[in-house]
Amino acid sequence: MASDANHAHNFGHRPRPVATDSTRPFWTAALANDLSLPRCAKCDVIYYPPPPRCPRCLGDRFDWISLSRRGRIAGMTTVHLATIPGVEPPFTMVEIELVEQKGLILTTLLTSEKSAQASVGDPVILEFTEPDPRGVAYPQARATAEVQP
Ligand SMILES: [Zn+2]
Repeated sequence: MASDANHAHNFGHRPRPVATDSTRPFWTAALANDLSLPRCAKCDVIYYPPPPRCPRCLGDRFDWISLSRRGRIAGMTTVHLATIPGVEPPFTMVEIELVEQKGLILTTLLTSEKSAQASVGDPVILEFTEPDPRGVAYPQARATAEVQP
């Protein structure tokens, strides 16, 4: 008989992200459902994932800014195999282009019940899960109404 315990056994736990000096502010902000990303103090370019240095100017001065968490689906795929521990298939992975910057892409799970009907170009909002027992809040995307101008 299927039970939560069996699912935990079959699918395991989601991998715990290891925060580095470069990524710690991201995971700390995530606990408050805040999407915070580094913007190069020199180039004004926002990066995801957070790099140790700006790939353009090699500077290491970043301003961490809070983003709207809004974006559009830039690419998507539905996965039918258990490829992510702790995530039961089938699930849909999406690439989200965030509204703040063209080409700023974040790849994450799409959680909507109607995720199978989602398509490229649809507006989404990025949300973070409640922190799990290990204190990790994971990003995920949800289909939403039109992006506000
Ligand atoms: Zn730079």
